[in-house]
Amino acid sequence: MKTLSDSYHCLKQENFTNTYPKLPAPELWYRLLPTAIVTLAILGLVTLGVSEQLENSMNYFLFSSPPIRSSGWLSLAVLMIGVGVGLFLLRWRLAHQLSVWGLLCISWGYGSVLISQQGYSLPVLTPMLFFGLNGIGVAIAEGIRSYVELRRSEERYALAAQGAKEGVWDWNLRTDRFYVSPQWLQMVGDENAVPENTPSIWFDRVHPMDLTPLQVAIADHLQRRTEHFEQEYRLMHQDGSYHWMLSRGVAVWHPEGRAERLVGSQVDITSRKQTEEALRRNAFCDKLTGLPNRSGFTQQLKQALDRVQTHSRTSFAVLWLDIDCFELVNNSLGREIGDRLLVAVAQRIRSFLPLDDSLARIGGDEFGILLNHVQDVKDATQMAERVQQVLALPFNLDDREVFLTLSIGIALSTAQYSDPDHLLRDADTAMHRAKTFGRARYEVFEQAMRTRMVVKLLLENDFRRVIAQESSDCSQELQLLYQPIVKLRTGEISGFEALVRWQHPEQGTLPPHRFISMAEETGLIVPMSWWVLRAACRQMRKWQLAFPQAAAMTINVNLSSRQFAMPGLTRYMEQILEETELSGSNLQLEITESMIMENAASIVSVLHEIRNLGIQLAIDDFGTGYSSLSYLTRFPINTLKIDRSFVGKIGFSSDSLEVVRTIHLLAHNLGMNVTAEGVETAEQAARLLEMDCEYGQGFFFFQPLAIDAITNLLQQEFNPDLSEDDPTFDI
Ligand code: C2E
Ligand code: MG
Ligand code: MG
Repeated sequence: MKTLSDSYHCLKQENFTNTYPKLPAPELWYRLLPTAIVTLAILGLVTLGVSEQLENSMNYFLFSSPPIRSSGWLSLAVLMIGVGVGLFLLRWRLAHQLSVWGLLCISWGYGSVLISQQGYSLPVLTPMLFFGLNGIGVAIAEGIRSYVELRRSEERYALAAQGAKEGVWDWNLRTDRFYVSPQWLQMVGDENAVPENTPSIWFDRVHPMDLTPLQVAIADHLQRRTEHFEQEYRLMHQDGSYHWMLSRGVAVWHPEGRAERLVGSQVDITSRKQTEEALRRNAFCDKLTGLPNRSGFTQQLKQALDRVQTHSRTSFAVLWLDIDCFELVNNSLGREIGDRLLVAVAQRIRSFLPLDDSLARIGGDEFGILLNHVQDVKDATQMAERVQQVLALPFNLDDREVFLTLSIGIALSTAQYSDPDHLLRDADTAMHRAKTFGRARYEVFEQAMRTRMVVKLLLENDFRRVIAQESSDCSQELQLLYQPIVKLRTGEISGFEALVRWQHPEQGTLPPHRFISMAEETGLIVPMSWWVLRAACRQMRKWQLAFPQAAAMTINVNLSSRQFAMPGLTRYMEQILEETELSGSNLQLEITESMIMENAASIVSVLHEIRNLGIQLAIDDFGTGYSSLSYLTRFPINTLKIDRSFVGKIGFSSDSLEVVRTIHLLAHNLGMNVTAEGVETAEQAARLLEMDCEYGQGFFFFQPLAIDAITNLLQQEFNPDLSEDDPTFDI
């Protein structure tokens, strides 16, 4: 078997060239060459008559007459050629060929003796000499051929190893000598070392952490537990740095079964390892903060869970931190400041977190803390309080002071978790609970939260289905109710507010607070709001056509903040007006103060574009948000709707009456109309009328009503003769 170590010897001589040697003569020639030479020699001797003299001088019998003599020699030549070609065609091995020539030699000698006893004479020594010479010639030719083939094969391997940048090694296990190729020495930057050495030239350079695994891999192969030896390890370069290497090898076995040598090759895989490391870092690290990302954090949680399972007395907690209203920072100060704030938050938390606790960035503005060694829930809540205190101090960015608060969800490992994702999910659920309860607080996960979450998820799925059907006009589940808005002075209906309801097949009629915030979170509010706008405009137009006196009425539609941020908003509104043939002046859009604040940058131009379509604008729920009348002067607002929390207290609290009066006065000064929402009693209506408030909306006048009820109402209002009830109000 030709081994790598044979190639090593060839490499050691370093006398090969980079081109293949000239191929030897075709096989036929060098196999038959000895036979041909010897045959030619016979013919030459015959021609020169030398063999005759030779025979004579050696006292052997000669052929009796010259023709017979020369034909005898010719037959001998033909015999040799015939046997040579025959052996070639049979492709016998050298030993067999030599046996044939030897046999020929002996049988010729024996045959000539027998023939001489019959009275004939044959030349003996010369033919025997020729046969012997021929055998030796064949042996030499075969030797040359094997040598050339071996050289060629070695050179091929050496070139391949050089091309593949492999260093070859050969470990003689009997003598404990270790040979390495110049390429191997080059890999460790030690070209001047002696190539023949002890295995310490290898093992002394292996990284201490990788030495045992390498030795185990070698032992495994030498004990025939593996078919090949293969191992990756770090090898120390002459300059002191470690390079990653991959070695592969095989043992050469003694017939008795023990390993005699181990031979193999080594390649430098440092760049591959570096790429792998970079990819790994990318996959598990957050680029911005340098902290582990969600995948990295999940891995840490997995390890912590494994630890808990082996040492059941330890437990840990996961804290899910979410920065409240972070999008406001991004929108108002820009993404760059937002990024810097995230880095500063990460640094601040890390600065006081114990070293064996981990911090990770698990989402845009979300961080995770893995708190080890938690005795009870108090340890976790104390940490949550501490984080909140530390982050309550202002951040100085670009000479600006930025304040922020956090909502934190806590999940404890004690609840028999085995999947890190479940822990994260529960910490997230608790965090959402904290948000729902008003932000800047923490909540510890309880089972009931998950149930609520599941209910919410189911509702979300149902709503997705409804919206999908709604867009193809197949669903009857969304419904609009219309609540009349009345002129307080006359009691006439001035318009309606469209209010959405969801006729859930199992849960019955769901009011907006059951699904609007979920629709906002999922973005489904956008298609829903367009459906509401289109349906409300279409209905208003129908009433106008049925009751020409309704031409001056307006339909109020609530806009969502998501919808407001949508590009092409006014174009879409214009399209709906064209489609439903409703005039813009009959539509009033209700927006909230917070919507204005969230979209502060683009809001002025968008509001003007809307007003240019003739559409009116109202500020809804005024008094519950920023409640700044001064900034309203910058916006083209027609109506201010005072929130029902103030209106509803008229008659109970003089303060509320004063607040309503002040808002009303200021709104008038700014040229806006005022609608009082949530008028529930005659007294409230009377007080509002006294302060000259234009419009009122509330259960005192009308509940939100279905289309048919409104149609009846309009009939009564415009054809009082047909009506049975008195539509005026007794204030
Ligand atoms: P909103 O725009 O302020 O609508 C007025 C809400 O006050 C309605 O509740 C209405 O039924 C209720 N209301 C009217 N008069 C009285 C009263 O005298 N007493 C009391 N206690 N309540 C009264 P609703 O229909 O439950 O709607 C709640 C909120 O849901 C709306 O408040 C609005 O913000 C939102 N909403 C309703 N429909 C839509 C919609 O189509 N799109 C969007 N984006 N939001 C909607
Ligand atoms: Mg409204
Ligand atoms: Mg309102």
